[in-house]
Parts: sequence; C-alpha cells; structure tokens
Amino acid sequence: MSALHGLQTAAVSIRSVRKVYGDPDSGPVALKSVDLDIRDNEFFTLLGPSGCGKTTLLRMIAGFEFPTAGEILLYGENIADRAPYDRPVNTVFQHYALFPHMTIAQNLAFGLESHPMGQRLGKAAVAGRVREMLALVQMERFAERRPTQLSGGQQQRVALARALAPHPKVLLLDEPLSALDLKLRQAMREELKAIQAKTGITFIFVTHDQEEALTMSDRIAVLAEGEVQQVGRPADIYEQPRNRFVADFIGETNFLPAQVDEIAGGQALFRIPGGRTLRAASREGLRPGAEVTLSIRPERLRLVGAEDPQATPCTLAEQIYLGTDLQYQVSLADGTRLRVRTPNSAGQSQRFAPGERLGLQFDRDSASVLLD
Ligand code: ATP
Repeated sequence: MSALHGLQTAAVSIRSVRKVYGDPDSGPVALKSVDLDIRDNEFFTLLGPSGCGKTTLLRMIAGFEFPTAGEILLYGENIADRAPYDRPVNTVFQHYALFPHMTIAQNLAFGLESHPMGQRLGKAAVAGRVREMLALVQMERFAERRPTQLSGGQQQRVALARALAPHPKVLLLDEPLSALDLKLRQAMREELKAIQAKTGITFIFVTHDQEEALTMSDRIAVLAEGEVQQVGRPADIYEQPRNRFVADFIGETNFLPAQVDEIAGGQALFRIPGGRTLRAASREGLRPGAEVTLSIRPERLRLVGAEDPQATPCTLAEQIYLGTDLQYQVSLADGTRLRVRTPNSAGQSQRFAPGERLGLQFDRDSASVLLD
C-alpha cells in the first residue's frame, strides 16, 4: 500500500509506468517512466502539449489501455486485472456522446443502469439519482429535452452528470471544455471546480491549456515527451518552474543568463548582464562560478527613469498595447532582450518612446534558477 506523507493512501498511484504502442522494442514510446501520486479529493491536472502522453495515462487509469511496464494502484489496490466497467472510475470525454433519440433524463438513467453500480438500484432509486445529478449541474429544467435541443455547454453538463451518477471514486476528464467557446469555458471552469468540491470526488483533468490548469487545479503535473517535468500547486509551478520547458509552457517568461556569485543559507546570489546581482532560492548542486539560466516573469519587472541609481540601464525597443496590460521589450547594455508587463491601470499607465533610455527594476524574489 502506498503511503502519502506517511498518512494518507493515494487515490491513484502511478508506479514506474511505461507505455509503448505496438511492438515494445520498436513501437512509439508514449510514456517513458512515470511516477505520480494523486490524492483523495484532489483536483489534479495533467498538463502538456499535444502528444506528451496525457491521454494515454488517463486511458490506462480508465482501463482502456495497459501499461507496457509498471503498475497503477487505486486506493492501494493494483487494478491491472480489472476491466474498465469494474473500476471505480468514470470518464468525461471531449465529445459528449449522448444518445440523440433519448431525452436527457433517459440518457442519464441508461448510463446508470448500464453501470455495475446502477444495476443494483431499483427504478425509483435510478430516477432519484438522475434528478439529483441534473440538479448538481443545474439542468433539471431540461430533463425532458433531447440532446440536439441543447447548447454545447449544456450537453457537456449532461455528460458530466452522467459520468458522476454512478458515484465513481475518481472522475477522469479528457479535455472536456475544449469544444466550448472562450466565455463558456471560463464559466464552466468555476462550475467544475465547485462540483468537484461539493462531491468530494477525485478529479483527474487533462488539458493542454495552462490557464485552465492554473485556475482549477489543486496540483498540476506538467508532462513533455512522455515524462513528468514537475508536479506542484499552481503557484509553485508558475513561480518556481523547475526547468526551461515548464517556465516557457506555463505563462510567459524571460530567460536571463547569469553566473552564481555566492551561496548562503539556501539562497544564491546571481550576477546578471549589466553587472547587478539578483537573489533567488538555490538549487542542489549549484556552485559559485556556475553559468545558469534564470526565469523572470515579465510582470515582476518594472520600468523607471534612467536616473534611478538602483535600476539596471536599458533601452526601450518596443511597446505593445494589450488592453488590460502594457507590454514592453527592453534591451540591456549587452543586447539581452527582456519583456516587461505592467497593468494598464488608470493614472499609472506608462508610455515611453521607442529608443528611450530607461531603468529596469527587478521585484524581490522575482527570479528562479532553472535546472536545464
Ligand atoms: P493530445 O493533446 O494531442 O491528445 P496527448 O498528450 O494526449 O496529446 P497521447 O494521445 O497520449 O498524447 O499520445 C502520446 C503519444 O503516443 C503520441 O506520440 C501519439 O502519437 C502516440 N499514440 C497515441 N495513441 C497511439 C496508438 N493507438 N498507437 C500508436 N501511437 C499512439
């Protein structure tokens, strides 16, 4: 049994899972060797670009695919021999796959009665559960409509209610919002998060959309090329990205070459182009003199007048009006280009002329050192 923090059994444990499609010696490698512990009650997101292996991992938890090596445990039990319908897991797909000839209530009842858990329920209990689930996704009023009489967002709610009806312990969601338009996607994010909190079911959500991942998740695993790059809370991933891939994939960032000056008390001092120093959390294996790359988010930089003695001299290359924000490109003396972003708040908006000489300030703790 896998202990998490010595206390809690993980809802899902992925142990050294490798997946090769077709011939294990020559087929495409979808996952190299993945280890993950997903906690009970957690909203956990698998985030990564197309082809990184996130759907493959989800399909193995569901039982639609099998690991080439390694094992998957559900609440401590190895589920390798359990068929998909015999796992306490259900899936919401990107495409709703509702039966067009049935009403919404009939779709839910049919889904429940086809499930091993629903087969134990009588007609009245099924009808009760259908009403309860439609209320949960605020679709009671549409119970007698057919799927074609609903919008895409409403159909996705029904698909969610259908997947939740058998009370799975773990709900798998494979890019469920990607077919919806932006406004609806944003509204559904809040609703999904609220439904997860209300039901207490562990959600494993797959997406390539970093904003979706940041806004909904308790924790995120970032995947690339079949490997987990980093696991952490949204703020950890955004503010302390482990490597160049994570820093670049989540939000926007600046990469700044730097040299380690000194290390003390878990902190390192880095010398950056232009001669000034920046402090950041040190990393294992870091030595004075080492050449590293720092990641600094554009919103953690500020432009001030060239006369400010604390600031690093820079020249404005261009500015872009983004509505909510203003974005600038500046060059340091050695030619290093950095992006700076400031809120376009009334009275504070800064307008400079391209070519203007300015000063650049770095917020405290704005830098994180990347491992590779
Ligand atoms: P997307 O966001 O595009 O769905 P993903 O991160 O979910 O991508 P997967 O669908 O898991 O990625 O695919 C991972 C890799 O495995 C890809 O290189 C893909 O081409 C390959 N792959 C997936 N399914 C199969 C299959 N049935 N046979 C062979 N290769 C496959």
